[in-house]
Amino acid sequence: MSYDDNNIFAKILRGEIPCKKIYEDDHVLSFHDINPQKKIHALVIPKGKYIDFDDFSQKASPEEMVGLLKGISLVAKKLGISVDTGKGYRALANISEHGGQEVPHLHFHLFGGEKVGKMVE
Ligand code: 5GP
Repeated sequence: MSYDDNNIFAKILRGEIPCKKIYEDDHVLSFHDINPQKKIHALVIPKGKYIDFDDFSQKASPEEMVGLLKGISLVAKKLGISVDTGKGYRALANISEHGGQEVPHLHFHLFGGEKVGKMVE
């Protein structure tokens, strides 16, 4: 499967669709999920064209990998849900069909602001 340039997050990255931005740097963009599942529900996406976590692990540069991990942590801090600034959160990436991934651009969900609950239904 090749990367679909018309996926919704590619459009957000190109500025063709608006988002409620939380944070941006050279490697990542973070914004609020349009359909929040918890009090705080943010998304963190790499700027590179990666379909999912496996694709990213195989093709991303070390700088992009560090950028994504640091981005997640920075966003959590900014939202007041990190261990330093709050009470913790859940970072989750759905991967492909069985993982329930709907948008084919790698993204981490950050859930917090309240107890997140059971890990898997
Ligand atoms: P997935 O199921 O692929 O892991 O998650 C996709 C997420 O993207 C869902 O939580 C969905 O609500 C969110 N989403 C889909 N379209 C948009 C959009 O246009 N803007 C924003 N901010 N989030 C979106």
